[in-house]
Amino acid sequence: METTIAAISTAMSASGIGIVRISGPDSMDVISRIYRSKGGKKKIKEVPTHTIHYGYIYDEEELVDEVLVMIMRAPRTFTGEDTVEIDCHGGVYAMKKVLETVLKNGARIAEPGEFTKRAFLNGRLDLSQAEAVIDVINSQNEYALKSSMEQLRGSVRKSVKEIRSHLIYHIAYIESALDDPEHYDLTGYPQELLEVVEKEQQEILRLLKTADDGKIIREGIKTVILGKPNAGKSSLLNLLLGENRAIVTDIAGTTRDILEEYINLHGVTLRMIDTAGIRETKDIVEKIGVEKAREMAKDADLILYVVDSSTPLDENDEEIISMLSDRKAIVLYNKTDLSSAVDMENLKEKTGHKVIPMSAVEETGIQELEEEIKNLFFSGNLSFNNEVYITNARHKEALEEAKNSLELVKKSIEAGMPEDFFSIDLMNAYESLGRIIGEAVGEDLVNEIFSKFCMGK
Ligand code: GDP
Repeated sequence: METTIAAISTAMSASGIGIVRISGPDSMDVISRIYRSKGGKKKIKEVPTHTIHYGYIYDEEELVDEVLVMIMRAPRTFTGEDTVEIDCHGGVYAMKKVLETVLKNGARIAEPGEFTKRAFLNGRLDLSQAEAVIDVINSQNEYALKSSMEQLRGSVRKSVKEIRSHLIYHIAYIESALDDPEHYDLTGYPQELLEVVEKEQQEILRLLKTADDGKIIREGIKTVILGKPNAGKSSLLNLLLGENRAIVTDIAGTTRDILEEYINLHGVTLRMIDTAGIRETKDIVEKIGVEKAREMAKDADLILYVVDSSTPLDENDEEIISMLSDRKAIVLYNKTDLSSAVDMENLKEKTGHKVIPMSAVEETGIQELEEEIKNLFFSGNLSFNNEVYITNARHKEALEEAKNSLELVKKSIEAGMPEDFFSIDLMNAYESLGRIIGEAVGEDLVNEIFSKFCMGK
């Protein structure tokens, strides 16, 4: 971190404004070499911190761009280092030219995520908050953004720190007692510790329980549409896509299958599986075979079963219905604009799931479908009142390890083992939790995490 880094922090496409960011000990030297104020008199190195200055960037005697320069001195900056942001014109060539000039004058190009990595290494953010920065950038819906913002504000850190502080107290207590048996009495202590361990384990379990919702918030609900030929699968898909077309995009961090599409309902994202299959073959079950359909259904978080209500149920329907038991599924009673050949009550009984009448042609039923999805996945609502959601797989894994270590402590207590046995597993739990916030993590892990960032962040 002795070096000064720079990168273009905005998107590499033509836009109104582009930002070149510089961070590190030489930031002020770099900018003073290339900045000239309008009158040419202002000394940019001497201006107060957290101020903005209008002027020009020069590459020696060549004028490069007209800019605004933000001067922010350490430590009150994102990275904790001296930082300069140059607002230049947002043309790709203009931004590149400004960056080149910066690089020629004492900075080196930043690696992806290096600004945030410095923020972490300088103690401005813990690791869970740094990861939240990526999540905020990648958020594709309201819930994802809210939960990432909570994490960025330190919600995960706070929960984890609290558990750790209770554990370290007892680790220290046991160590002291073993060192100094004359002044510490361990009679009855194991029972006391058992209660503490159980309480902390409960807290970890509570956090782990949020991870399922967390995954869905972050990656979307893996959804498959099933139904016999001509039931209206592609009509439903088009209806869903049509209403939400603007926000159908890739979600970073998920394994993107070329056959997946994303649909953004209000607040939640559906990650549609094999929509190409629906489009091209008009018949998923027939083309890919019942076995494959069954597999897909198994893999999905949600099954949307489209029924053609204008024709009696047939063996295709029976096959699909047999895939629905114990699954999260919604039955769409399609073509309500035609005369009915399927009894709705009977269908509800047979499938064991909510049946929503709809007509893809008349575009009815979609709102009810959205409501039902929220009911199924977030018990109707997701409130973010002091709620911590674990949305990160790495955090989940660490919590699970901590839970298992605490389980071992409980076992040792119950088996009447000597006290030093407790502290080994307590320490393991403490360290597992520490990995979430970046205490006691190796350099490799830090590099791995920050390499997932985009340039300039
Ligand atoms: P898929 O084979 O399940 O994908 O079915 P499609 O979406 O291609 O629909 C098959 C046929 O049913 C098409 O001619 C659609 O226009 C028609 N269809 C779909 N939904 C409705 C509906 O709600 N009402 C009516 N009347 N026809 C529909």
